[in-house]
Amino acid sequence: MKILIKNKDINEALKNVSNLGFVPTMGCLHKGHEYLIKQSKKKCNRTLVSIFINPTQFNNKKDYLSYPKNLKKDLNILKKLKVNFVYIPNKKDIYSFKRKKAIVLKKENKILCAKFRKGHFEGVIDVMDRLTNIIKPNKIFMGEKDYQQLLLVKKFIEKKNKTKIISCKTVRNKNRLALSSRNQLLNKRDLIKAGKIAKELFYFKIFLKNSKITKNLLHKKIELLKKKFDIKIDYLDIRNKNSLKPSLNIKNSKIFIAYYINNVRLIDNF
Ligand code: AMP
Repeated sequence: MKILIKNKDINEALKNVSNLGFVPTMGCLHKGHEYLIKQSKKKCNRTLVSIFINPTQFNNKKDYLSYPKNLKKDLNILKKLKVNFVYIPNKKDIYSFKRKKAIVLKKENKILCAKFRKGHFEGVIDVMDRLTNIIKPNKIFMGEKDYQQLLLVKKFIEKKNKTKIISCKTVRNKNRLALSSRNQLLNKRDLIKAGKIAKELFYFKIFLKNSKITKNLLHKKIELLKKKFDIKIDYLDIRNKNSLKPSLNIKNSKIFIAYYINNVRLIDNF
């Protein structure tokens, strides 16, 4: 496994590589990341994993500084998975050039997390564009766990490049809680609570198969979750899984949630 830090190391290491799979991460790796890596290894000749906590996608400095890190453990995981390349760039190298055209989200995309985290997706798209230009992968593996991110990045990257974005299912623990680096910030009690919320939404989706979706129904569900679990909810919404337009029918749609347990923000979709 080669560890690459500088962009010139990338050019040198990748010059004879064909069909390269790329798994971008912010580190603190878990089985969700491992699943993406395994998919890349299955579909590509070589796999590169990046570990970079991108400052520009955090709309809150405290959140950026408290983002969990564990490089030593990450490298052990990647070694065990027989990843070919690990790219651990520094901020200076990624942001060495100014972009010609600022990234601006269309009004119709300023929904869900874009509404609650100002500048977040602009930061994500910017860094994904930079990483794609540096690495030039054939395929990028991304998780449905961050569904809105997946759709926005796919649209932007595939329009400009030959690179294909491959979406991968969300990996969950036995309580149906989506694995996330941020789960590390939760204590045991809150982890159990987050699992119960996931289970509740899983059954809510089944219930919606035979029920009409109304604003009032969603409002009631939000109030119930807030009261039952003592959480703050940014949004609970049902949207078409392709267009992300509000949906009144669960068919071809997903339930999206973003909420806080003890100041830790979690997102999921079902
Ligand atoms: P992150 O390190 O949180 O920025 O995530 C890096 C990639 O892993 C993103 O494409 C995420 O969508 C994906 N990912 C995060 N959690 C999971 C999960 N539980 N299952 C599958 N993919 C995930």
